[in-house]
Amino acid sequence: MGTPIRPGATIGIVGGGQLGRMTGMAARAMGYDVHVLDPDPACAARAIASRTVTAPYADVAAMEDFAARVQVVTLEIEQVPSASLAAAARHAPVHPSAEAVHTVQDRARQKGWLAAHGFPVGPMRVVTTAEECAVAVRALAPCIVKASMGGYDGRGQVRVRDPEGGAAAFASIGAPCCVVEQFLEIATEISVMTARRADGTMASFPPSLNHHDDGILTWSVAPAPIPEARAREAVAVAQGVTSTLGIVGLLAVELFITADGRLLVNETAPRPHNTFHQTERGASVSQFEQLVRAVCSLPLEVPTTLVPAAIHNLLGDCWADGEPDFTRAWAMPGVRVHLYGKPGARPGRKMGHLSAVAGTTDEARDLVRRAYRAVTSALPPR
Ligand code: ATP
Ligand code: MG
Repeated sequence: MGTPIRPGATIGIVGGGQLGRMTGMAARAMGYDVHVLDPDPACAARAIASRTVTAPYADVAAMEDFAARVQVVTLEIEQVPSASLAAAARHAPVHPSAEAVHTVQDRARQKGWLAAHGFPVGPMRVVTTAEECAVAVRALAPCIVKASMGGYDGRGQVRVRDPEGGAAAFASIGAPCCVVEQFLEIATEISVMTARRADGTMASFPPSLNHHDDGILTWSVAPAPIPEARAREAVAVAQGVTSTLGIVGLLAVELFITADGRLLVNETAPRPHNTFHQTERGASVSQFEQLVRAVCSLPLEVPTTLVPAAIHNLLGDCWADGEPDFTRAWAMPGVRVHLYGKPGARPGRKMGHLSAVAGTTDEARDLVRRAYRAVTSALPPR
């Protein structure tokens, strides 16, 4: 195992969105310096970085120079070419590794890897032509067809009920490779966040319970109110995926509990995750500090719940009439407003979130949803 990278060192974060920003804020609070690389000069993490490199993720020379000036590189986005991460690794440790990121950054590769390693996934097929898609949809309908690369927050996905709708769905997505998944009857969506150090030590947060609308996360609460045996099973699956992938850093695993009682992996992400933002309020360590500890080989906190906590996303839609008035949220005991400092509010863009803590998970969830309604009452319902 590597020697600890101590406060005073510089952490390089590839990706300067809200996840990089919140990771950088945690690193700063611990005494680290932070550099960020992002293609967008106005990225959210710019405000907390002492150096921001504006370059595409595919710019190998920029990535090498970036890595040469830091003691460790981590990332907040998996859509980074392997060649760039491999080049960075010539100058500083890169956690998670180029190989691990390569395995998960493509949905087809990731799903194939999960199935091949015996992790539970729902019925699915990988398709590369409209004809293959038509055959897969006929076999699995109703389905969701998902682009293999580049999709997030439900983008690049179409739901297909008609068994004959496969070819049209493939054409409408317009991607060279898609995953056709059977549409599952989901009772509950949960996620597990696991941190892993280079020496193989792991620690997981208690699962979160997540609510999506139109394929995008609306709210999340932890600890998930599910039977303890189910939570243990989910953590065991997540830790199996994390260690088999050889992740150093964080791995979020999204899981479905189906109406007929199956526990299935939906997808994984090798970075902080929207469904663990409430760890900043309710857990013994935040996901962001835990990431810093993992990539710097510091002891991991074994995360425990201090108080039930929930978050509600604030999408750009809330900015339709200008900056929302958060006064009513600030006035609610237990509620906080988290804004990412992004300049352009577009519909569907994650601009911030509300968080709430309360005595029970139900109360935390209800409080954050009340706060959201109080802030957005003038807007049409989403
Ligand atoms: P995100 O970036 O928000 O995680 P994404 O674009 O990667 O989203 P998925 O996680 O694959 O997309 O799907 C988003 C949501 O759509 C899921 O959380 C779930 O609510 C729903 N969904 C996805 N796949 C299925 C499925 N096979 N059956 C039923 N619902 C599904
Ligand atoms: Mg997802």
